[in-house]
Amino acid sequence: MYPEVSLYIDGAWTKGANGKFLPVLNPATGEEIGKVAHAEKADLDRALAAADKGFKAWKKVSPYDRYKVLRKAADIIRGRADEIGKIMSMEQGKPFIEAKGETLLAGDIMDWFAEEARRTYGRIVPPRAEGVYQLVVKEPVGPVAAFTPWNFPINQAVRKCSAALAAGCSIILKGPEETPASCAALVQAYVDAGVPAGAIQLVYGIPSEISEYLIPHPVIRKITFTGSTPVGKHLAMLAGQHMKRITMELGGHAPAIVFDDADVDVAVKVLSANKFRNAGQVCVSPTRFLVHESVYGKFVDGFTAFAKSLKVGDGLDKDTRMGPLANDRRVQAMEMFVADAVSKGAKIETGGKRIGNKGNFFEPTVLTGINTDMRIMNEEPFGPLAPIVPFSSFDAVVEEANRLPFGLAAYAYTKSAKTAAAIGAAFESGMVSINHHGLALPEVPFGGIKDSGYGSEGGSEAIESYLNTKFITQVGL
Ligand code: NAD
Repeated sequence: MYPEVSLYIDGAWTKGANGKFLPVLNPATGEEIGKVAHAEKADLDRALAAADKGFKAWKKVSPYDRYKVLRKAADIIRGRADEIGKIMSMEQGKPFIEAKGETLLAGDIMDWFAEEARRTYGRIVPPRAEGVYQLVVKEPVGPVAAFTPWNFPINQAVRKCSAALAAGCSIILKGPEETPASCAALVQAYVDAGVPAGAIQLVYGIPSEISEYLIPHPVIRKITFTGSTPVGKHLAMLAGQHMKRITMELGGHAPAIVFDDADVDVAVKVLSANKFRNAGQVCVSPTRFLVHESVYGKFVDGFTAFAKSLKVGDGLDKDTRMGPLANDRRVQAMEMFVADAVSKGAKIETGGKRIGNKGNFFEPTVLTGINTDMRIMNEEPFGPLAPIVPFSSFDAVVEEANRLPFGLAAYAYTKSAKTAAAIGAAFESGMVSINHHGLALPEVPFGGIKDSGYGSEGGSEAIESYLNTKFITQVGL
């Protein structure tokens, strides 16, 4: 059932120059379920030549025709959501219902960028002299190199590929080696919808070797990356040396504040569900729970009860509500965070341990007795750990919320319009969600500030970073 994953270069699926493959493991069992082709320099050279040629042809396709192709890709991927959802669950571990939902959302994202293709407007600037026409036009930036991670194998890639293709760019996508098949299914949907040879390539291999070769290459005009802040900073430095446009969607450590007047039941329900979604491997996951001391006990009890009730298991088991972590690195990181916190005085309300000796399962974990010396309060957990901390004043909680260098997502619960407005203004964060979890729809901006990166992968801002602005002034039209 799990496909062998090849590279896609110049309109054909190919095994790669040396015929080398990397194993793909099922995180629920630890067993090898398939293989993914490994690109060598010769494959990257072919991908670059194809992207160069593909760009010259694709940019001439009218925005209306690009719109039609992307709309068709959206219908195709929706029609394959069951099949792709199963593959994603096998390779990434998330419950099938989440994997299918991610695939269906990809259709919405394609639809959004299809429409955006038709809105890449320029403008006419009034001249200072009669007969002068001052035109501002938008043009595709050129071939794009995109790097996407394993936590949302389709969602992270579909935003970049759809924005690039809608703008008229070609793209070389370096997909996630750990979860390659659902990303390949995404590329197949574009191809089946009519994206021509050269407009899209998909490669896998050694990430650092690929990025260090593609980013400086003169064919590539734009870099986009989703992943950790240290890797993002390294790639941004490389891109800066070669004056390439960049979008960076990096890590976060989202504060979730529950004020004394909040509807605590709603806060528990929404925050706990979102904490453990995708086993906490979500860049906008709420991760530092800051709860007013007057409602702290009630919140901890409700949150802990939810964590205890979660059925952890294989993503393809229909009762599973939280799957395994995507790889063993994350399990080791969870063990490190828990041991560090406990050694500094934390109390484990529930969880705290690996489950079983097969697969990468870890218990949904709630920690109290937290202080800011603990690593869990400073480093992105990217897993099912929830530290819950009491606070007593608005100013103190704002200081804690903004203490870290990250600024991706932030959450707050309050019944007061005044407090909602004040906290919305005070958060140093690219995205703020108050009294619900309302992030990541295609039509709204998605991106961070500070060490969480720059640029937006949603809303009307997203296509801008794939476009150049050209000014033309002319007399005598
Ligand atoms: P990592 O930093 O090694 O890798 C993260 C992603 O970047 C992977 O997809 C990897 O293939 C890619 N990558 C790594 N080095 C690269 C390079 N030199 N060039 C190009 N791509 C490169 O970390 P990891 O162990 O896979 O994940 C750990 C941390 O990464 C998490 O704790 C989390 O902070 C972050 N992460 C964030 C997101 C996100 O959605 N923002 C997604 C995945 C991982």
